[in-house]
Amino acid sequence: MEPRLTQTAFFRPHNRSEDLTNLYLVGQGTQPGGGTPSVMMSAKMTAREIARDYAIDPRIVAGMPA
Ligand SMILES: Cc1cc2nc3c(=O)[nH]c(=O)nc-3n(C[C@H](O)[C@H](O)[C@H](O)COP(=O)(O)OP(=O)(O)OC[C@H]3O[C@@H](n4cnc5c(N)ncnc54)[C@H](O)[C@@H]3O)c2cc1C
Repeated sequence: MEPRLTQTAFFRPHNRSEDLTNLYLVGQGTQPGGGTPSVMMSAKMTAREIARDYAIDPRIVAGMPA
């Protein structure tokens, strides 16, 4: 996605699809955006969404002992 205001941050596709149930998005085309650090944040955000949806202990997602 082109990095312009209307396609930046919150305006990018969300990490949990709003169109399809059980579809999660990660990487530069989704939130928060492109670049290696953002893509890694995107992975964390998506993992957190999945943990919330499936009632998984968030400490497991964060790599901490439960
Ligand atoms: C020339 C260049 C320089 C850059 N320099 C920097 C930099 O210095 N610092 C920085 O932070 N960022 C940089 N970036 C941006 C950074 O590389 C990207 O934002 C980041 O790699 C995106 O990661 P991603 O996992 O979302 O996508 P990608 O790294 O593009 O990974 C997507 C993967 O999915 C695969 N794929 C695609 N379609 C399919 C399919 N149908 N089935 C299976 N696999 C598929 C692709 O082959 C690819 O391996 C640079 C980008 C470019 C192009």
